[in-house]
Amino acid sequence: MKTYLQDYSHKRFNILTGEWVLVSPHRAKRPWQGQNEAISNEQRPSHDPNCYLCAGNTRINGEENPAYEAVFVFTNDFAALQTTSPVFSVNDGLFKAESEQGICKVICFSPDHSKSLADMSVVDIGKVVKAWQKEYIELGSHDMINYVQIFENKGAIMGCSNPHPHGQIWSQSTLPNEVDKKDQQQNAYYSKNKSSLLGDYLKQELEANERIIYQNNDFVVLVPFWAIWPFEAMLVPKKQKRNITELSEAERLSFADAISKITIVYDKLFECSFPYSSGIHQSPTDGKPNDHWHWHMSFYPPLLRSATVKKFMVGYEMFGSPQRDITAEQAAERLRSLL
Ligand SMILES: [Zn+2]
Repeated sequence: MKTYLQDYSHKRFNILTGEWVLVSPHRAKRPWQGQNEAISNEQRPSHDPNCYLCAGNTRINGEENPAYEAVFVFTNDFAALQTTSPVFSVNDGLFKAESEQGICKVICFSPDHSKSLADMSVVDIGKVVKAWQKEYIELGSHDMINYVQIFENKGAIMGCSNPHPHGQIWSQSTLPNEVDKKDQQQNAYYSKNKSSLLGDYLKQELEANERIIYQNNDFVVLVPFWAIWPFEAMLVPKKQKRNITELSEAERLSFADAISKITIVYDKLFECSFPYSSGIHQSPTDGKPNDHWHWHMSFYPPLLRSATVKKFMVGYEMFGSPQRDITAEQAAERLRSLL
């Protein structure tokens, strides 16, 4: 079984979304003709007078950032969702639309313009986690907000326009597609088995011990069996928790430690400030029990072979389904060796 998965094309099932990914391990053995060189990391100043996220600077809307010392959160000046838009729906034959309301915020992880999460101490990352918890509670308490999406886009390759360490929090009235799929899959499993889908998956992963990158007291960092991105990783709490507000103080720091470890390993992999999109999927804030939810954080990095060779989601992936060459097991082994 094991060798089949390392040698022959197959598809793997994503238990969280109910979708498949095509894996072609035999293709990873083909000689690589792309570039494979480390790019020089530009040194950024700790404070950039032209950065709209640095402390004390003025943003485009004229507001001045405070002289913040740790984490700073503000409402996005160019929010994709607004509280003031009217509630409406369109049901015109086959034309269907629904209004969507929400609140979008920006979270600066550190006042230091030169840093990324990989450069920050576990204690300082813990402060970011604390701010995420606070925002989840505050935003989720609004009647019209039923879901809070926390995410980070890092690196110009991911379309991130500002290198200042920051992430975003978009909150809205309905569940976005990815969350809706995971909500349904987890709910179906929980209703049938009376246990957490990810909790049971974690047991199997720890037993197999093939895709684990790192673990501490409370978290496992692994390359999921169904990973799409070459070096995709998932951070899963060992105990089932519906969302990040259910973490104890010790678990909050364990989570920060897990984030620190994976981001450091990523930077080492291709000797560059590793780009990625990361996000937390957790229970909706719709007032329902949501006992089927087991929150987790995912990292989707695009780099494939080096700092300058990225994976493209094109062709078959646009028209068929996601596809990868290097297996999840090989990716986990490489990342684990850099700890
Ligand atoms: Zn800055």
